[in-house]
Amino acid sequence: MKNGRARTTDAQAERIAGFVDRLRVEPGSKVNLSKDFDPARTVGIKNKKEGREILRSGVALLADYQRRLAADGSHGVLLCLQALDAGGKDGTIRHVMSGVNPQGVRVAGFRVPSAGELAHDYLWRYTRELPRRGEIGIFNRSHYEEVLVVRVHPELLDRQRLPGRPKSRKALWRRRFREINAWERYLTDNGFRVVKVFLNLSKEEQRVRFLKRIDVPERNWKFSASDVRERARWDDYQAAFSDMLSATSTPWAPWHVVPADHKWYARICAAAVLARTLIEIDPHYPAIDDRSRHELELEKRQLEKEAPAGAAADPYAVKRRGHQGHGGDRRRR
Ligand code: AMP
Ligand code: MG
Repeated sequence: MKNGRARTTDAQAERIAGFVDRLRVEPGSKVNLSKDFDPARTVGIKNKKEGREILRSGVALLADYQRRLAADGSHGVLLCLQALDAGGKDGTIRHVMSGVNPQGVRVAGFRVPSAGELAHDYLWRYTRELPRRGEIGIFNRSHYEEVLVVRVHPELLDRQRLPGRPKSRKALWRRRFREINAWERYLTDNGFRVVKVFLNLSKEEQRVRFLKRIDVPERNWKFSASDVRERARWDDYQAAFSDMLSATSTPWAPWHVVPADHKWYARICAAAVLARTLIEIDPHYPAIDDRSRHELELEKRQLEKEAPAGAAADPYAVKRRGHQGHGGDRRRR
């Protein structure tokens, strides 16, 4: 690897892009979630075993790119994760980010808004949790709840005390889609890529996962009675998700529908979507100009002079030469 160049080869980058393209909702297309997407799909990967290998290399790739993103400091990335209950958001975050330096990641989860949050415009609380340049931010649920749970339960809107509400509900959701698209456009234009992943779970797999949460004592805490109440509104959620995907998959921030019945596959998909974005950003370690290089050389000479008796002037350089001499060119930088 040449210094400053990303770790992927062009062939790898192409393979990841091709994989991700299949998950993308074409901007402007009309989505019917239950017809258009199969939650059990595992196209492109042979089996769970191969999947584990791919995820491992994906995690390493993400770690490398995250270091570059942090060093480059001009871009930030926001990964928005949406799913129905038991869709696997928590596990996806745990696995996909497992190799990444925690200092470069900021995870925010969103629950029912507090009175304090409701005293602001609806995007306010999401704005507060945005990543900085150099960071990967993850939204575990996101501003999209404002056109999902709020749409399925319009009584939640009353708590938002909106003046000048459009005459029809439908017009209100159109307006929200427009506002969200504009907000994401603004973020993208200013160096923050918005990456959107929807974990698409089947109704039967949700049933099985809920039962597991009831059957396994260590998982009981994850189950709540409201989960079953929301499940009863399955069709309403499917409709709300379909409309959201159709209206907010944009050229600057497209949606990705990830088949989520197989957790191992969903995790690879999420990692691939994130990796693709980072490859596109192509962050670089800052280059040093000749003057700074010269200053570094002077500092180096001073430090070498300070070597105590018997010590090598530059023990690190000696060690490195040793590695290279033993075929240990690990291509680590
Ligand atoms: P969980 O992610 O399982 O801890 O649950 C969080 C809960 O907060 C879910 O039931 C969401 O539907 C709910 N929630 C998240 N955002 C909003 C919102 N903007 N308005 C109302 N409820 C929300
Ligand atoms: Mg829950």
